[in-house]
Amino acid sequence: MSGRPTKIVCVGRNYREHARELQHEVPAYPLLFLKPPSALIASGESIVLPPASARVDFEAEIGVVIGRRMHHVGADQAPHFIRGFVCLNDVTARDLQKTDGQWARAKGFDTFCPVGPRVAEELDWRELEVYGRVNGEERQYGKASDMVFPIPMLLSYISGIMTLEPGDIVATGTPAGVGPLAPGDVVEVEVPGVGILSNPVRAYDE
Ligand code: MG
Repeated sequence: MSGRPTKIVCVGRNYREHARELQHEVPAYPLLFLKPPSALIASGESIVLPPASARVDFEAEIGVVIGRRMHHVGADQAPHFIRGFVCLNDVTARDLQKTDGQWARAKGFDTFCPVGPRVAEELDWRELEVYGRVNGEERQYGKASDMVFPIPMLLSYISGIMTLEPGDIVATGTPAGVGPLAPGDVVEVEVPGVGILSNPVRAYDE
């Protein structure tokens, strides 16, 4: 990754089975939220569980890295603005997400956005898949073709709201199978063709 993105734009409930497991309807239009760039960590760095939360979940996702400034771009042209793809973990304090009503805290703690291990530039967005594993055990599997809103539509929609800058990251939603993390766990997100994003989990200790 080169430099820090100006923003990380995330999409909620973009796979039907995941919306169902959290007892939500699939939204009529993409449900967006932001993660702060200060939450970014690389592969190998630790996810730190904050004392404020009793339930921190992993969410394996396909991340899109923007290559050219996007402002009101149509879905047909959107793929030309993609630099490449990354593995992304949308780490979430599930209890705080429910109690706060909006998600800035639940999604925004330091270390809550592992991204890596590289930006893969040669892949076709239509063929992307994502796996989530905890301690080597597969927990999540999804593919881009199962998304409620496909990647070009997401990018077009977001670019009509906020200008996407080169290096900005779009997290495209997580498939079913999310679950809690505990100190000592190792969580992996794999996007075949990109690689494996691996992060140990530890308790906050000053
Ligand atoms: Mg997510």
